[in-house]
Amino acid sequence: MKCCRATQNFSLNHTFHFCCTKMLPKMLPDYDPNDNQAGMKLLEDLTTNAYEIQQQVLREILTRNAQTEYLKGFLNGQCDEDCFKKKVPVVNYEDIKPYIERIADGEPSEIISAQPITELLTSSGTSGGQPKMMPSSAEDLNRKTFFYNMLVPVMNKYVEGLDKGKGMYLLFIKPEISTPSGLMARPVLTSYYKSSNFRNRPFNQYNIYTSPDETILCPDSKQSMYCQLLCGLVQRDDVLRVGAVFASAFLRAIKFLEDYWKELCSNIRTGHVSDWITDPGCRSSVSLVLGGRNSELADLIEEQCSGKSWEGIIKNLWPKTKFIEVIVTGSMAQYIPTLDFYSGGLPLVSTMYASSECYFGINFKPLSKPSDVSYTLLPNMAYFEFLLVEKNNGELTQKVHCNGVSDKNCIQASDENEEFQTLDLMEVKLGQYYELVVTTFTGLYRYRVGDILMVTGFHNKAPQFRFVQRRNVVLSIDTDKTNEEDLLKAVTQAKCLIEPLGFLLTEYTGYADTSSIPGHYVLFWELKMKGSNDLPELDAEKMEQCCSKVEENLDSVYRRCRKKDKSIGALEIRVVKHGTFDALMDFCVSEGSSVNQYKTPRCIKSEEARKLLDSKVVGKFFSRKTPFWEPFRMEIN
Ligand code: AMP
Repeated sequence: MKCCRATQNFSLNHTFHFCCTKMLPKMLPDYDPNDNQAGMKLLEDLTTNAYEIQQQVLREILTRNAQTEYLKGFLNGQCDEDCFKKKVPVVNYEDIKPYIERIADGEPSEIISAQPITELLTSSGTSGGQPKMMPSSAEDLNRKTFFYNMLVPVMNKYVEGLDKGKGMYLLFIKPEISTPSGLMARPVLTSYYKSSNFRNRPFNQYNIYTSPDETILCPDSKQSMYCQLLCGLVQRDDVLRVGAVFASAFLRAIKFLEDYWKELCSNIRTGHVSDWITDPGCRSSVSLVLGGRNSELADLIEEQCSGKSWEGIIKNLWPKTKFIEVIVTGSMAQYIPTLDFYSGGLPLVSTMYASSECYFGINFKPLSKPSDVSYTLLPNMAYFEFLLVEKNNGELTQKVHCNGVSDKNCIQASDENEEFQTLDLMEVKLGQYYELVVTTFTGLYRYRVGDILMVTGFHNKAPQFRFVQRRNVVLSIDTDKTNEEDLLKAVTQAKCLIEPLGFLLTEYTGYADTSSIPGHYVLFWELKMKGSNDLPELDAEKMEQCCSKVEENLDSVYRRCRKKDKSIGALEIRVVKHGTFDALMDFCVSEGSSVNQYKTPRCIKSEEARKLLDSKVVGKFFSRKTPFWEPFRMEIN
């Protein structure tokens, strides 16, 4: 079959071509990222025609992929959109994991995708302790580039003069592995930064960074960080905005600066890059930026950094900075006070909401307060559906009617013809909470992303969402996402160390302590001796071993952050007096929890509850070992 149809033109000035078979599909409108007006017009068109575009996207995905083993199993080769919702199940990662692993093991992409899968993107979400792997294609890189380009006109609309300088963006790559099939498995941003789309990015104001690409692409994260900060300091007068992807990474850079500013100043003073910078790309590119000796600049930076307090240091070191671009929504909101302290009140800008599965949405009001940030899903990125989440007494609960096989939260559909309870992008309602489900161009069909979003408004016909939380995540410092089950598993292993001594762990909870950099997990443990309520005498060494045991049993993303990235500090256990968790229950009930339904929260969010627990601490212990970590091993048959 040879077919190529230019569809109805959504906006109708940009051509969305949908083609299939032989010709490469052109799903993304052409757009010059330097043309702000055209960019804004395109965003208006996309949001005005959100419904039509979603329909087109679904039709295109089904037409392309109807013959894949996965879809054929449900649709028997049809590509009818009604059947899709009736017959294709809403799934979790465990449902599709066997397909992904078969591809990693060398089977052809066509089992899930008509277009070749060119790499697997390792997510910070884990399954069985290892990162989930999301399929990606060559075309997907163009989709991401399109998405990044769409951020430019929005930023330019709100902040003038960004073309007059540079961005100090601290960007890093992470380890990658080759799967048995030869496909690389690596994080989405590592894939993007290494791609020619990034390296040959068009010269526009949004793409001019103080960091040479060689420093971003350096596999040694310490050298990379040092060199990027050095380049940022040397070019301080050009810097109009600073940032990193997530707030945690930006704060890690500030901590690094606290540790290394003397050496950085000495490099600037002498015009010589420290000898331990051995990566050839870093050395040559940074030497070039450094130019020669500059004692005046070194004195200036030294004066700022040796001050009593680092309050407002960002503004002092980079005086022309207009904002800090870091994601501060979701679990990253915990870093806002620390960022405010260092920034001297600069706006914190969360530009986008994206994941390894798909890039989702853009913040159309980048200067809004972090608590007011909403993202508008771009309707040409994927086909979006929504599972209703109810909010009762402050608790989010899901009555999920989905037919995946893996999730205990899913209710099996009683009748094969029953349509599963998802809503389309156009059907969501203001103020309601939903879990996002995506069907991508790269082989995910009705996949539960695990993020809970709330509708805050509409931009033209496209709904806007506040990121509420990741489903079931209780602890997170950096990109780690520890859920209740993983925490329980790790705590269960650890308590085995003290049970032979006659101790019983009667209750536990935790919180992510981000009062210092890097942040760390704190667990509160209530212990007693078997047969009595007496406070046991604590063996510090054993308790420290418990801390390490918990860490060893957390997933590989936690262990990578802890060992390789050093973005998480040593885990702490605080032992509390007998009766503390009863007091916690009394507190929660006084705050409105139902006594009948009360369950010990595995994550303490309220400041008051935390203070209550802290007031009953009898011993604090820290892990003394960093847990084992290596780039994940593929255990594939
Ligand atoms: P990963 O799959 O490792 O790329 O992580 C993607 C996840 O990070 C998303 O599903 C969200 O849970 C979270 N995330 C990404 N962008 C944002 C954002 N702007 N605000 C809050 N959380 C985000």
